Amino acid sequence: MRLTVVGCSGSGPGPSSAASCYLVEHDGFRLLLDLGNGAFGALQALADPDTVDAVYLSHLHGDHCLDVVPMVVWHRYSGRSSRRRVPLIAPAGAQERLQQVYDSGGAPLTDVFDFAVTPVSALLGPFTVQTTRTAHPVECHAVRLTAHGSSLVYTGDTGPSRAVVDLARGADVLLAEAAQPEGDDQPRDLHLTGRQAGEAAAAAQVRRLLVTHVPAWVDPVAQLAAARSVFPAAELVRPGVTYEV
Ligand SMILES: [Zn+2]
Ligand SMILES: [Zn+2]
Repeated sequence: MRLTVVGCSGSGPGPSSAASCYLVEHDGFRLLLDLGNGAFGALQALADPDTVDAVYLSHLHGDHCLDVVPMVVWHRYSGRSSRRRVPLIAPAGAQERLQQVYDSGGAPLTDVFDFAVTPVSALLGPFTVQTTRTAHPVECHAVRLTAHGSSLVYTGDTGPSRAVVDLARGADVLLAEAAQPEGDDQPRDLHLTGRQAGEAAAAAQVRRLLVTHVPAWVDPVAQLAAARSVFPAAELVRPGVTYEV
């Protein structure tokens, strides 16, 4: 399985990265995890949009879903789309929400996407998919992808969560958000600090931690150092970089 970071800027696009989007490939199947603002631009430098086989949205905050809109425009008007409908997995209500974002008249997006509500478990192309609710103000699902004996877990957005640790247990790679700077007045059930991302990786006994979703106004080096203080096998992801899982 190969993971390519399309965008990793937390909570919105930053000066050097789009918001959340990860391309996961195995056996020629291409899955996008999230499609945050700016990501559809960066995607075009990494993959032909027509080759995206499915889209998984962890939740409906703008930094994880807004570039569904330019993807619809591309499929409808670029003349380069093969017009096969793309499975789009997302929390309930995504179809209506994204339709409204696209156009207040609310034309259905079902000519481009085949919407499905996030399952607890499913098969998707070569991947076994398992999900769990995270600790976040809106419905958000962490996801575990398994293929050919390798496993990747992506937290989406979450505060400290026993359910996410359980989902990640023994995974090869935990791609974890670390949006929250260290401090003593951390809001509950919103985001992880670097240290908390490290603690989740240690508790789940994963092999490797990839730290992501650091907002442009938070020091990424400090987030990584805090994660490494409890889980040394951690690194900070960078846009455009591919990681073997
Ligand atoms: Zn976010
Ligand atoms: Zn969020």
